[in-house]
Amino acid sequence: MIKAAAVNKFFGDLHVLKEIDFEVERGQVVVVLGPSGSGKSTLCRAINRLEPINSGEIAVDGKPLPAEGKELAALRADVGMVFQSFNLFAHKSILDNVMLAPLKVRKVSSTEARKKAMELLERVGIANQADKYPAQLSGGQQQRVAIARALAMNPKVMLFDEPTSALDPEMVQEVLDVMTDLAKEGMTMLVVTHEMGFARRAAHRVVFMSEGEIVEDSSPEEFFTAPKSDRAKDFLGKIL
Ligand code: ATP
Ligand code: MG
Repeated sequence: MIKAAAVNKFFGDLHVLKEIDFEVERGQVVVVLGPSGSGKSTLCRAINRLEPINSGEIAVDGKPLPAEGKELAALRADVGMVFQSFNLFAHKSILDNVMLAPLKVRKVSSTEARKKAMELLERVGIANQADKYPAQLSGGQQQRVAIARALAMNPKVMLFDEPTSALDPEMVQEVLDVMTDLAKEGMTMLVVTHEMGFARRAAHRVVFMSEGEIVEDSSPEEFFTAPKSDRAKDFLGKIL
């Protein structure tokens, strides 16, 4: 579903992604781990071309990502993205936040957009807040809205970049629960997270990055119990 081949990315002289090869199969949940600055966010952003790459290829659902234009917009719509900061529209209601992209980009009717948005808000456990504004919700609730908003476009893939890092500890689990449900329903997911419990329970694979390289790509079981590289051992030693 996602395929990256020999991807290189530079910021000036800084080589941030080094010959990245990896694949996420349909229905797979892949957790990306690695120290700060190792290139995890850049990889996520490269997958939907929020960040241009210098060489290599990235394809989503068999289609190579085009650089621009209508095709790019269509491909981006296939890739839902959830960030650490929720990025909701502050002056729109929760319902409007979820309805907006389908209305504008998919050109669905407002009746249909509303129905679908309410279903999604139901699914993330927040339908009773539909008429409120983002600032009236807790961080965990806002992040669940952000997930519903991404899902409203019927994406083929969901990318999560540290979706729980900005949350108060008591709100982390409610967001992870929504993500776990999504994984169980068969969504293809790439998740950058420091939540090792989620990685162990929900991931099919763990990809460990260090200094712009994929150093390990294995099952969670293998990664957590028998990491092969010193860099992974060092990383695990610090966080576990
Ligand atoms: P973190 O765990 O802190 O989120 P990360 O693994 O997501 O880290 P990236 O954000 O992908 O790391 O950054 C990889 C490297 O690229 C870092 O050295 C960072 O400073 C650099 N970098 C990221 N974005 C830019 C940018 N827009 N311009 C210049 N350098 C950048
Ligand atoms: Mg990051």
